[in-house]
Amino acid sequence: MVDLKSQYDFIRKEVAASMESVFESSSYINGPMVQEFQKELELYVGVKHVIPCANGTDALQIALMGLELKPGDEIITADFTFAATVEVISLLHLKPVLVDVHPRTFNIDPEAIEKAITKKTKAIIPVHLFGQCAEMAEILRIAEKYNLYVVEDNAQGIGATYTFPDGIQAKTGSLGHVAATSFFPSKNLGAYGDGGAIFTNDDDLAHFIRGIVNHGMYTRYYHDVVGVNSRLDSLQAAVLKVKLKYLDFYNERRKEAALRYNSFFEGHPNLITPHRLADCNSHVFHQYTLRLIDADRDGLVAHLGKHDIPCGVYYPVPLHAQKAYADPSVKEHTFPVTNQLVKDVISLPMHSELSSDQIEFIAKTVLEFLT
Ligand SMILES: *Cc1c(COP(=O)(O)O)cnc(C)c1O
Repeated sequence: MVDLKSQYDFIRKEVAASMESVFESSSYINGPMVQEFQKELELYVGVKHVIPCANGTDALQIALMGLELKPGDEIITADFTFAATVEVISLLHLKPVLVDVHPRTFNIDPEAIEKAITKKTKAIIPVHLFGQCAEMAEILRIAEKYNLYVVEDNAQGIGATYTFPDGIQAKTGSLGHVAATSFFPSKNLGAYGDGGAIFTNDDDLAHFIRGIVNHGMYTRYYHDVVGVNSRLDSLQAAVLKVKLKYLDFYNERRKEAALRYNSFFEGHPNLITPHRLADCNSHVFHQYTLRLIDADRDGLVAHLGKHDIPCGVYYPVPLHAQKAYADPSVKEHTFPVTNQLVKDVISLPMHSELSSDQIEFIAKTVLEFLT
């Protein structure tokens, strides 16, 4: 699905030099490399504070810890996302309230959010799923109306630019009160191991979170709150600092790949291509995900497999139907879209190194099965 080796070949010298400087400094934890990367990422995203941490799941958990919610407080998020988003809510003894998504964008449906709000609702977690910005203007409007926090799950959307109805643009991760991202190797900005970060424009929240990631310490060996130990290590920061310079280029290549896939698939009666706005900047194509209409998905997966083409089904089970998150009070008919999407979706290889020929071969192999 990704080709990290070809990408590495292109930046190998820069990565080696960057890592070498960490070895030379012997500063492996919270060293200058982590701070340099943090500063550069703040500038890139256009956010006041980036707090690096160990992975994207930690980033989500710590972002929520920063909001000082009470057990039983309700957090609204999408039924159609990776489990990490809801896992951290449950771990903190908060109540995940899952809502349906939009059939074209796959992102959380603002109307469904508003219907799910109760007196106990404290936050909304929109996920920029597959790289596409959620409907942030509407989500922020709802949050303001009901006095809720907005925590962006930006693990799949880093580098995307959102345009508000008044034309103002801002990058994902800078739109909500706080945001979380992941540097898992296959993400758009991937390390060579685990990594993550929290973003916020709020000075007090940033200070509070910097303590949480470091055992709740604000003064050495004085623990004011119960924290965690979650750090981005300097060697991963060295890799990320190099790759951040190429992030726009990587995302541009993904967009080109998506448009080339579209050119084969658009208008086909059995396929719905990914939704995108006229301004393509709101989608960084973490995944290229098709919907199959009246077609045999298992058959297509097997057909692609025969031709050594990888593919993925993200995600095969809605969160409300996962054993760990099943809630008997939740009604199946609340999720018509997610229940359909889990049967329809298929993601094709998507990364910044896909060649035109590879895309043509993959697309023709898909079409061969459908016709
Ligand atoms: C990858 C991902 C995460 C978790 O990131 P890790 O670094 O793997 O912990 C959270 N949410 C979404 C939507 C993701 O895609």
